[in-house]
Amino acid sequence: MGQIGIAPPSRMRADSPTGVRSRVLTIHDRLVRSFGPQRDWWPAEDPFEILLGAVLVQHTRWALVAQVLARLQRETHLDPDRLLRVRLPLLETWLRPAGCQRQKARRIRAMARWYREQGFEQLSRLSTAALRERLLAQEGIGPESADAILLYAFRRRVWVIDRSALRLYSRLGLCQDHPADFRLRILPHLPPSIAWRQEHHALVVLHGQRFCSAQPRCTGCSLIRGCDWARRAISTGRVPNPR
Ligand code: SF4
Repeated sequence: MGQIGIAPPSRMRADSPTGVRSRVLTIHDRLVRSFGPQRDWWPAEDPFEILLGAVLVQHTRWALVAQVLARLQRETHLDPDRLLRVRLPLLETWLRPAGCQRQKARRIRAMARWYREQGFEQLSRLSTAALRERLLAQEGIGPESADAILLYAFRRRVWVIDRSALRLYSRLGLCQDHPADFRLRILPHLPPSIAWRQEHHALVVLHGQRFCSAQPRCTGCSLIRGCDWARRAISTGRVPNPR
């Protein structure tokens, strides 16, 4: 990601706060129409499973993580105590499908130890800022993973500013491709509902995988009308006009 400063307002589209909110809601509706409702996008029986998933998914695809989680479920019932009793070489074998098994085995053991000592109830009583700080202190948990855990495992009103969200919102012309600008221009206008935010993150990730990737596949994208990036690409003939 480049070092892009916050754009002066004159360089961005002059959307009013209500205009941004209404565009965000339109984006959401169109993505729901494209991919269907995504209320259960992160399937997990309990918060510890979400923590494990957040560590295991790094540098790999969810399908492989699901395979590993199913194995851990069979072998340990995803119980931190049982997981900690598994010998490290055996645990590494189970994690192999998700890759980086030595590093991930060490990290999920540390996570299991931490989660067992703290306990979900105690963690749930922390403020969002304090809980985020504790999560970030765990090896392998960066800002995106911490926010995903806060949103899905602890149901906190946060947002995951990841690559998919930055690409989408900057290409649509609503902010620059930089977390600080996203925080300034988009975050205050996202609906407060946690369920809505969970679903919107899921939709943005799916859209990023299928359409708005590093090399966007604009043809067939439900957001092509009103997209700044596509408008420029159509004007230079790189993308066919959808008319
Ligand atoms: S039209 Fe292209 S650039 Fe715009 S949101 Fe869709 S895939 Fe991304």
